[in-house]
Amino acid sequence: MSRKSGPSFVLELPLVVSPHESRVLSARFEAGRQLYNAVLGEALRRLDLMKQSKAWQAARKMPQGAPKSPEQKARAAAFSLIAETIGFTDYDIQSYATRCKNACWIGDHLDAHTTQKIGTRAFLAAQRYQFRTGGRPRFKPKWKALESMEAKSNATAIRWRDDHVEWGKLSLKVRFDRKDKHGVQTFALQKPVRFCRIVRRTIRGKTLWFVQLVIAGFPKWKEKNPIRNGKSAIDIGPSTIAAVSETDAFLEKFCANVPDLQKAIRRIQRAMDRSRRGSNPENYNKDGSVKKPTSGKRLQWVFTHGYLRLRARLKELHRVLAAYRRTEHGKLANRVVAMGNTVMAEKLSYKAFQRMFGKSVRDRAPGEFMDHLRRKAESAGGEVIEFPTRTTKLSQSCHCEAVVKKPLSQRWHDCPCGVCAQRDLYSAYLALHVRSYKKDENQVWRLDTESARKGWCAAEPLLGKAMSDVVQTAKGGPLPASFGLNLKKARDRVVLS
Ligand SMILES: [Zn+2]
Repeated sequence: MSRKSGPSFVLELPLVVSPHESRVLSARFEAGRQLYNAVLGEALRRLDLMKQSKAWQAARKMPQGAPKSPEQKARAAAFSLIAETIGFTDYDIQSYATRCKNACWIGDHLDAHTTQKIGTRAFLAAQRYQFRTGGRPRFKPKWKALESMEAKSNATAIRWRDDHVEWGKLSLKVRFDRKDKHGVQTFALQKPVRFCRIVRRTIRGKTLWFVQLVIAGFPKWKEKNPIRNGKSAIDIGPSTIAAVSETDAFLEKFCANVPDLQKAIRRIQRAMDRSRRGSNPENYNKDGSVKKPTSGKRLQWVFTHGYLRLRARLKELHRVLAAYRRTEHGKLANRVVAMGNTVMAEKLSYKAFQRMFGKSVRDRAPGEFMDHLRRKAESAGGEVIEFPTRTTKLSQSCHCEAVVKKPLSQRWHDCPCGVCAQRDLYSAYLALHVRSYKKDENQVWRLDTESARKGWCAAEPLLGKAMSDVVQTAKGGPLPASFGLNLKKARDRVVLS
């Protein structure tokens, strides 16, 4: 949405809700959940139907061709024709959602526009699965109700009116930030609202309601955060982030202040498993595995109060983790933008990252950080430029044009030509000197070794300083092995420089 209609940002305000209003909202969210499940079921059914059709098999066999080539266009057209015939389009799924709503009690709780938005949501989930950017979407069980509902525009359904939210017969007051220290709220409220989203959160066991105003344009830049107009570059590893610009460099643990809650999470998960087994012994085989449902009859599960308490605690832990992560991402993004608002970065598959390095990466969410950074850079008048690793190969390259493959365990770039630097910092430094060239109408990204060579004189002391900063902070506690500081040789080198 934001890509098509230009940039937008969110102002979130807590709602002041009476017990009655909270009940009405809950009823609408429950109606929304049931509608979502019904529509998702239909969308998945149509998707399966589509994939089984002969036309689909034929379209798959068509030649793929390069991006934007006539072959590729013909193939895409064939696929969308099939989708239209079967009714697997946003429009069709939306109208299915409307029919569903009008045919039952859900119509008493939801209006036309929020219904259509739910249709789109289910369709997009099914489409992500079709394009393999997501797994098969799951139905939302009762205890995992919708987290948010939104309108299509600010003209109908959920509407922001001066200082309150209107939704059907509800008129909800909000709690403004009285202090508004950086003037962010005042600034946002002067701009036109695109649409509103109502969000439900459970915080320490309490249900709280919020409204998110989606506003066109960029948020106010807080004056306490400096911006430098110019280039910077970052290199993100599974546990580190390195950033380099012409004037500054740093290397640190990626999201250092996000607490490690994995142990606590595992403990609760194990307790939940024990509780589930204890209260549902008939659902398990003798070897401890869960029984397969027989002849379409679903297994019946009993969840004890103890189990529900554990589940709530688990959810709370995940919420806390996400809150820490957001703060850390924001701080880091500000730091990078202060070094340069045009940020160069390798285009990485954070999914592959997660497969390789597991849960610790998921807790730090590098992909989410990149989104955050992109928004920050754009609102600071710059951008994030991501280039492919395939043609640039920064982790193997040296600005003397030597290309040598290093194992991941080798944390120092130590080239026979005399260049020696910590691997992540050096990668970020090279990213600063990546340029795009035109080659047969295609854009190709390459390392400009010439400019990297020229800049090295000035950059070498910056990288050295970044490393000694790391050593300084290392006195306060352990650092990841990926910094390469555990090698005595490396440490000597830092002291010398
Ligand atoms: Zn070299």
